[in-house]
Amino acid sequence: MNCDCGAAVASEDGPSHAYMSALPACWRSYGELMARLSAHGVSAPLHMDAYAAQHPGNALQDRRQRGSVAVHLIVLGAHFDFGLPLSHLFSVKRQFNLAAARWLARLARPGTAENMGGTARSWDSLPCRR
Ligand SMILES: [Zn+2]
Repeated sequence: MNCDCGAAVASEDGPSHAYMSALPACWRSYGELMARLSAHGVSAPLHMDAYAAQHPGNALQDRRQRGSVAVHLIVLGAHFDFGLPLSHLFSVKRQFNLAAARWLARLARPGTAENMGGTARSWDSLPCRR
């Protein structure tokens, strides 16, 4: 059975993420990997971003999933494409999560020039823009 990420995994019952499209076996394997890395003191700040971006399955129907995938992809791009240091990623992710929530709320209703100005000010406050 192929998971949304392309991994061939066993069909099994079990928990999965609330809105990521990972099959239970893939979600379990990911959890086991993260537990092993953590037990060995390995920090893996981008693993969650990569895993989440590879499981976008329900993004067309679920607003949380769209925002989540967008933020994870932005974080990966900020690091790999623009060289943002790992030490800045948590702050960037937090601010993009807040910005994504504001954008999604604004896009759910007609925008105004005032709303767009507020978004521009928020964008300028990001650490990578200072
Ligand atoms: Zn998967």
